Amino acid sequence: MTVSNNRLQEAIDTLKDSGVRITPQRHAVLEYLLNSMTHPTADDIYKALESKFPNMSVATVYNNLRVFREIGLVRELTYGDSSSRFDCNTTDHYHAICESCGKIVDFHYPSLNEVESLAEQVTGFDVSHHRMEVYGTCSQCKAKAAH
Ligand SMILES: [Zn+2]
Ligand SMILES: [Zn+2]
Repeated sequence: MTVSNNRLQEAIDTLKDSGVRITPQRHAVLEYLLNSMTHPTADDIYKALESKFPNMSVATVYNNLRVFREIGLVRELTYGDSSSRFDCNTTDHYHAICESCGKIVDFHYPSLNEVESLAEQVTGFDVSHHRMEVYGTCSQCKAKAAH
């Protein structure tokens, strides 16, 4: 599973334009995120890269992710007390979440703009965005359960 180098190059250009220094670790975190379709946590990324960067800590990964988030390269998905998941797909999309393994899968559905305008009317909020998630059992977990 590799992303087109284009996407990585674009992301690196965005970092450069924002004046962010590209360290080897930063490059590796970014590449891992772009290749990952699973919405990893900082810990997942740390575990995947620790053998390559023995001096790297989870805090370093977090700091890099914060930098990426601030310039709009990734989205942080928070779930109450559990650790945030990071999503490098910044286009509008929704998520299906497996209740058994925690996997998050993207899917596209016409953006529910009516919900936002209705919510504004009903609550008087200035709505900035919304999140929609469907929950269930992913196909892999379903196959496992059938055995
Ligand atoms: Zn699952
Ligand atoms: Zn996503």
